[in-house]
Amino acid sequence: MLRWKRIAENFISIHVGKEYNGEPYYWTTFYYYKGLIVDTGCPHAAEESLNFVEKKKLDANAILLTHYHEDHSGGAYLLKERFDIDVFAPRKSLEILANPLEVPAYRRTVWGQPKPIKANPLKKEMELDRITVTTIETPGHSFDHVSFLTENIMFIGDLVTNPTPVIMKKEEDCIDLIDSLKKIMNLDFETAYGGHGFWDKNGVKTTLNNLEKLKEKVDVLWDKGLSVERVVEKIFSNVPEKVLLMEEMSESEWSRKNLVESLLGMRHKPHQ
Ligand SMILES: [Zn+2]
Repeated sequence: MLRWKRIAENFISIHVGKEYNGEPYYWTTFYYYKGLIVDTGCPHAAEESLNFVEKKKLDANAILLTHYHEDHSGGAYLLKERFDIDVFAPRKSLEILANPLEVPAYRRTVWGQPKPIKANPLKKEMELDRITVTTIETPGHSFDHVSFLTENIMFIGDLVTNPTPVIMKKEEDCIDLIDSLKKIMNLDFETAYGGHGFWDKNGVKTTLNNLEKLKEKVDVLWDKGLSVERVVEKIFSNVPEKVLLMEEMSESEWSRKNLVESLLGMRHKPHQ
């Protein structure tokens, strides 16, 4: 299913998801901005997304991807093929986009299996038809994640998904994520448009503060000698049912334990 919103002149948010009982399992958002398509929704919605772009007669000149995840890259292969336009993605994503891994069953249900995409590497500054886009490396949510700044608008992919996280995906690196949020806070923008919501600068700041406070709490307990499991019990014993359900459904690809381990730096790899 697909919903869309006009944000401003030549600026549209497009929300897509696989329908289940009249509701999407989960929404993912991509954008049309002055000739650019920023992210592309999930594989299940690829045809619907293409039909929308065609029907609205959006003048698409290029596709930019913030990271390789299937709910952001899933429609790129069809849009590229239909409009004969280039897909630009982080250099680090090119290999995995061309040879996507088989995603776990729950993600195949919710988003779909991604198809191979041939993308070109993003440059730091790009002149694209009507606008200039700056690419900022913002790893953390994934190893390859970038954000885009154009005029006073930020496209942040999944840099912020939940301002008060209680659960995290296994591949996420909170140390990098905190650094990336700090980097973004130094830039001049009004609104950050992401894959799962919009945030003003204060919203981004709140997310950063919450993560830093949570890290402090986790560090104190860890320094007292508590195990990761005990830290999880201490901080996250009273969580909504849906958090537990998500842990179970994803076979702990998403979990509170991942969040604690990530905050402790266990997912952090030194950069080359
Ligand atoms: Zn993602």
